[in-house]
Amino acid sequence: MDKLTERFLGYVAVDTQSDAKSTSFPSTPSQTLFMERLADELRMMGLSSVEVDDNGYLMAWIESNTDKPAPSIGFIAHVDTSPDLSGKDVRPRVVLYHGGDITLGGTTVMTEERFPELKLYHGKHLIVTDGTTLLGADDKAGVAEIMTAVEHILAHPERPHGRVCIAFTPDEEIGHGVDRFDVARFGADYAYTIDGGRLGMIEHETFNAASAVVEVHGVNVHPGYAKGKMHNALRILAKFDSLLPDQRPENTEGYEGFFHLVAMKGGVERAAAEYLIRDHDRSSFEARKLKLKEIAASLSAGDVVVSVKTEDQYYNMGEVLAGDNYRIVERAIESMRRIGIEPIITPVRGGTDGARLSFMGLPTPNIFAGGENFHGRYEFVAIESMQKAVELIEEIIYSAGR
Ligand SMILES: [Zn+2]
Repeated sequence: MDKLTERFLGYVAVDTQSDAKSTSFPSTPSQTLFMERLADELRMMGLSSVEVDDNGYLMAWIESNTDKPAPSIGFIAHVDTSPDLSGKDVRPRVVLYHGGDITLGGTTVMTEERFPELKLYHGKHLIVTDGTTLLGADDKAGVAEIMTAVEHILAHPERPHGRVCIAFTPDEEIGHGVDRFDVARFGADYAYTIDGGRLGMIEHETFNAASAVVEVHGVNVHPGYAKGKMHNALRILAKFDSLLPDQRPENTEGYEGFFHLVAMKGGVERAAAEYLIRDHDRSSFEARKLKLKEIAASLSAGDVVVSVKTEDQYYNMGEVLAGDNYRIVERAIESMRRIGIEPIITPVRGGTDGARLSFMGLPTPNIFAGGENFHGRYEFVAIESMQKAVELIEEIIYSAGR
């Protein structure tokens, strides 16, 4: 078994699930313990600039070994696994795949029919679960790949490279991955999160995102005497929703944005709804927020008040990764092509830690870690995809030092 696979299997054996209900940072102590373990491993490789800070972030640096000017490039992965399914007692297994269905364990079967992406993996070694937990390739594949690339680079001091910055972050899955990330301390000119899916994927565009709360104040009157007097807040809210353009998560794809109704509650007197607003284009994102306010104004009259409060959550990192900064994306694409990977460039229908980092001053596209079917029992990763990711990290580093 190669070092990369051994490393990955060792990492997924540790439960590092994050917890959205926790009030501590990181949300679970197991993540900090895991960071300490990674720090020890890096020190064993001979790296001395390694630290785990009070917030549980691991940062490490390999100094430049060339006089030529070269950028400081960062590589980032997250150590937590999704709260959607248990990441405790993960029992992974390596399957040499030759087509057909894979029985994970008991009656849990990954069928070719339901998971057509399996067709891409004939002849590959797949690491799968036993059907009771997630695998944790999201993002321990990224962690294992970065660690393995670091090991190779340290073992070859004769090959010139610029400064390399490494960070492992906690709590990505609960949306707090970069809350306390010290961009200045990290000191990279730009970075890549190694947290994408399939081999070849590179992502440099995300949604612009906001949440909105719509509140309706109606008028309640005894139903027996309500004629001409009652204004039922629930019905006004239903009307509000019906006046929105018919763009929802379930009928949009690609670059199409949407309004996503996530909660509705209330009574005759008062009612409230919560929406998520998503759009890749900044101006149509702003237009969506305005639309909510227009509808609210059109339904407000007399005692009936409909109000909207919106709050921006994150922005499309494509805005930061445009112009000169697009070179950062191109360098990764060119590096992929040089080592025989066909890039798959898709807009993310969501956010990434890199999106927030990009607006914090660290431009950070996202690159594949190799896994599929994240956050569930059908999650798997091909060893061959992980090996290519290691090769890609090295190629990005060495090509910048040439
Ligand atoms: Zn992830």
